[in-house]
Amino acid sequence: MFIKELSEKALKLGFIAIGFSRPNIPLYFEKFKKWTNQFEMGDLAYLKRNLDIRKEPERLLKDLKVVISLAHPYPANKPTTNDGYSAARYSNPTEKDYHIKMKALGKQLGGLIQSHFPESRSRVCVDSAPILERSFAAASGIGFIGKNNMLIVPGYGSYCFLVEILTTAEFNIPSPRAIENRCYSCTKCIDSCPSGALKSPFRLDPSKCISYLTIEYKGDITKQTAKKMGNVFFGCDACQEVCPFNKNGLPVVCLPDTDDILSMDEVDFESSMGESAFKRAGLKKLQHNISLIKQIKE
Ligand code: SF4
Ligand code: SF4
Repeated sequence: MFIKELSEKALKLGFIAIGFSRPNIPLYFEKFKKWTNQFEMGDLAYLKRNLDIRKEPERLLKDLKVVISLAHPYPANKPTTNDGYSAARYSNPTEKDYHIKMKALGKQLGGLIQSHFPESRSRVCVDSAPILERSFAAASGIGFIGKNNMLIVPGYGSYCFLVEILTTAEFNIPSPRAIENRCYSCTKCIDSCPSGALKSPFRLDPSKCISYLTIEYKGDITKQTAKKMGNVFFGCDACQEVCPFNKNGLPVVCLPDTDDILSMDEVDFESSMGESAFKRAGLKKLQHNISLIKQIKE
C-alpha cells in the first residue's frame, strides 16, 4: 500500500511523524487571522499579506489533493560557547541550515510519490510558502498545538522541524483526526516567558518575542530586550524548555566563543557559520545581540 511505503521511507529518513489531510480551510485559520490583526506584526507583516493563500492552499499548487505533514526532530541539547553563552537548539553551526536539509529530505519523498503517480506534481515546503503548517500538522493528527503555539508531537515534544508536501497525487488517506490540546491546567510556558510575549494561552505578541527580535527582526534589539535574554544571543527556547512534553539534553559546546564571533568579518562568518541557521540573522545582528547582552552584564 502506497501510504505504508511512504511512511516507512519517511521514518527511514529520520522523520518521527507523518500525517495526511485534505486541503480544506485550515483548522486554525480564523484564529491565525485574528492573531495577525491583534498585534503589531513588525517584520512579520508578510504573514498578513498572504491570508488568501493561507486560507486556500490550492493556490500554492493547482489541483492540490493531499497535504502531507511531517515532523523531524532536532537535538534537545543547547548549543553553547566555551564562555557560557548559548543559542536556540536548532542552530548548530556545524549543521546546514535546516531549511536546506529538510527540503532535501522532503524531495526524496516527493520522488517516491512521483514514481507511483507519474502524472502528479508535488511541492515541498519548509517555511518557504504561506501555509499554516502547524494547523495542517494538527489536523492530520501528528500532534497538537500547545499553549506556547508550538506543535507538540506526543512522545517527542516540540523540538521538531515541520515539513509539508503538497501533492496532486490522488490516493486514499486515513480519516484525519486532530488531537485535542493536552496542556490541561499547565501554564509553565506562559509563566516562564522572559519578555511577557506569551501573554496568555496561544496569544503571542511577536513584537516582544525574543526569538523573533534576535533573528528575523531587521532592526537592532534594545537594551530592555537584552536584559531579558540572559546568556542566549540567538533565538529563545524558554517556552519550550519548561514544557513537560520536552526532554532537554545537556548543553553541547559547539559555538565559537562570543569574542571570536565579535571579531569575525563576513568571510570568517561565511566559512564558519554562514551555511547554518545563523545565516538568517546574519553576522551584524549576531554581533549586536552579543555586544548588548555582554554590556548589560558589565
Ligand atoms: S520564544 Fe521566548 S520570548 Fe518568545 S514566546 Fe517563547 S519564551 Fe517568550
Ligand atoms: S508548557 Fe504546559 S501549557 Fe505550555 S505548551 Fe507545554 S504543556 Fe502546554
